[in-house]
Amino acid sequence: ALQAEIRTWEGPAQTADGVAVQLLANVQDGAAARKAAGTHAEGIGLYRTELSFLTAQTEPSVAEQARIYGEVFAAFPDQKVVVRTLDAGSDKPVPFANHEHEENPALGVRGIRLGWTNQGLVDRQLDAIAQAAEDNNVSAPWVMAPMVATVDEAYEFAQKCRARDLKPGIMVEVPAAALLADAFLAEVDFFSIGTNDLTQYTMAADRMSSHLATLTDPWQPAVLRLVQLACQAGERAGKPVGVCGEAAADPLLACVLIGLGVSSLSMAMTAIPSVGVQLGKVTMERCRELATAVVDARNSRDAKELAVSMLL
Ligand code: PEP
Ligand code: MG
Repeated sequence: ALQAEIRTWEGPAQTADGVAVQLLANVQDGAAARKAAGTHAEGIGLYRTELSFLTAQTEPSVAEQARIYGEVFAAFPDQKVVVRTLDAGSDKPVPFANHEHEENPALGVRGIRLGWTNQGLVDRQLDAIAQAAEDNNVSAPWVMAPMVATVDEAYEFAQKCRARDLKPGIMVEVPAAALLADAFLAEVDFFSIGTNDLTQYTMAADRMSSHLATLTDPWQPAVLRLVQLACQAGERAGKPVGVCGEAAADPLLACVLIGLGVSSLSMAMTAIPSVGVQLGKVTMERCRELATAVVDARNSRDAKELAVSMLL
């Protein structure tokens, strides 16, 4: 019966008491974005631009990058599209951006840190995003930086974005960003929480390791506490907080996240109907009660059991 509900789900998502929740798709290129446009995704919550360049030996020109990004804007005219600047490095090395061998690449020069030695890389990508937006009549597209760890990085990124009429945001995937959330939100217009890396860095557990699955679990109460901090700061600042990590695709965890104050969930497009169906079965009030309970759970198992007992 649940499978049939999922198959016939129409969207847009809302809770049983009618609170809208934006469900968005994660994509890696124009082809995926066009596919997502044929689903109930209300937009793109995470365009992982580095995945468009995994085999690129040389940096594409600004014009070529603009053409590539433009395909994603074109797939969702008049809808939200969040472009992430290159998160090259660690598990996603990009030949033209990552040159050095690193002992601990997940803790190395990845994401926004590439700009330390190659500011031009960031500048040219932002030029290309601005050009792609203009070509597709998108005003002030959402653009976010990955792996931001200091307020100064957020400030500098926001300055660059605003100079090009781009709406700046950051990924919250380093615990530092959640812990100092108010200071970060003073600089940028939105947060998108990357629960994959936020979990990896909070639990000190490699997200690629099959031996560490109990630690690399976004139900870990320590991770949910950091999500809570980011959401509370978002409420104080009146700025939106979304989630774009795998956690958003877990229907029960999605209820926890919106109870914590998250307003949009971005996920693999195939997960959207199952999350939408689950959200339709619960009230916002219930999600808030659950959120309050799980952040006090002793471990991830207890957190999940609380969700099962309160939601199902
Ligand atoms: C994340 O870290 O949760 C995230 C969405 O980014 P990526 O999986 O691309 O590192
Ligand atoms: Mg990440």
